[in-house]
Amino acid sequence: MDTSFSADEIKFRGEVRAFLDEAFNDELRARLNDPEQFRDAILDWQQRLYSRGWIAPNWPEEYGGTGWTVTQSFIYESERARAGAPDVIPFGLKMVGPVIYTFGNEEQKQRFLPPILQSEDWWCQGYSEPGAGSDLAALKTKAEWDGDDYVVNGAKIWTTYAQYADWIFCLVRTDSSIRPQEGISFLLIDMKTPGITVKPIETIDGVHTLNEVIFDNVRVPVANRIGEEGGGWTCAKALLAHERTAIAGVTESKRRIEEIRRLAKAEISGGKALLDDPLFQARLATTEIDLMALEYTELRVLASSAEGRGSGVESSLLKVKGTEIQQALQQLMLDLAGYYGGVIQGDEIGHDYADIARRRFMYGRAATIYGGSNEVQKNITAKHVLGL
Ligand SMILES: Cc1cc2nc3c(=O)[nH]c(=O)nc-3n(C[C@H](O)[C@H](O)[C@H](O)COP(=O)(O)OP(=O)(O)OC[C@H]3O[C@@H](n4cnc5c(N)ncnc54)[C@H](O)[C@@H]3O)c2cc1C
Repeated sequence: MDTSFSADEIKFRGEVRAFLDEAFNDELRARLNDPEQFRDAILDWQQRLYSRGWIAPNWPEEYGGTGWTVTQSFIYESERARAGAPDVIPFGLKMVGPVIYTFGNEEQKQRFLPPILQSEDWWCQGYSEPGAGSDLAALKTKAEWDGDDYVVNGAKIWTTYAQYADWIFCLVRTDSSIRPQEGISFLLIDMKTPGITVKPIETIDGVHTLNEVIFDNVRVPVANRIGEEGGGWTCAKALLAHERTAIAGVTESKRRIEEIRRLAKAEISGGKALLDDPLFQARLATTEIDLMALEYTELRVLASSAEGRGSGVESSLLKVKGTEIQQALQQLMLDLAGYYGGVIQGDEIGHDYADIARRRFMYGRAATIYGGSNEVQKNITAKHVLGL
């Protein structure tokens, strides 16, 4: 893999920098950091990307993708990290969008893809259920035919941002009499449909992102099923590969390293900056080296999938290593905050970053669970990569 940039690529990097300097300004940055304003601010950011034509680098060009090479995507992601700009919300653009353009019919593509690109529809993911997480094929939410509709009954849990969502993509059981994986279908459900209740679940960081979503005789047009009845498991697996690659979060971790380096430079302990402490330096350097290795692994995976290769199993490796690095960085930032990392949200003592360090650390425990727990990803790797 040649990692030196051509003249065209350097020109492209200049264009990305110019766009980010203008579009990702301090006013937007402040709104994104305010939980009250987060929803509108992230939509605003996504619409700026859409207007520039850069909202969906990972989509094929015919559906609205950028047509970038792997190197251009790498340049864009690196510059985004440098600017501290956030990634898009993944549920529409990185999860259900690719499922719709891969497995959906023409009508579904025309109906659902444009509002995803324009960030008009907010999507959430209805996979997990009480009793069906790692063993996803055990899901029980049932969809039964009635005229032109399915009638859906059951409950989904841990549904991120369901409180904002216009649509939910769901795995539902359409046949209980056959092998569990073969009786699952993939349905798109309008969250305004009568019979849907969203109940909040507050997490340890004190923020509301998770929910329970209950379906009580919810009527969903059969036309909203993606692929064949019973073909949901194929869609589910393709989507999970996209999800796990996104969870690896290389760009976000690069942003965090820069942030930690800046904070550690300003943090004086025993008369010298913490950044000069050999133990702290060693921990930061070890994590940074791991991140560089992960970044090159991710680029190799992206390059081979651009050439039509790649089994999807690599996404499990990226997810495991990426989330371990995220947690190492969260631990480093919490250690930087010292005792102040233990203060309760809203207390006005200590560093201004201590509260965010604590919240990130606490929410960050979930990264090795969501998208399929790391233990399960190791099982997948053992079976499909190592042949154990
Ligand atoms: C913050 C957060 C956000 C989430 N967002 C969503 C969302 O938007 N939509 C959605 O559908 N789901 C979401 N999830 C759910 C997530 O996908 C599940 O939590 C995850 O798949 C694990 O399932 P579980 O919680 O039922 O744990 P379980 O499956 O009960 O696992 C419990 C423990 O047992 C271990 N374990 C289970 N099976 C095995 C095995 N075969 N071998 C070894 N160890 C095993 C697991 O690693 C884990 O440590 C979210 C979860 C979290 C924490």
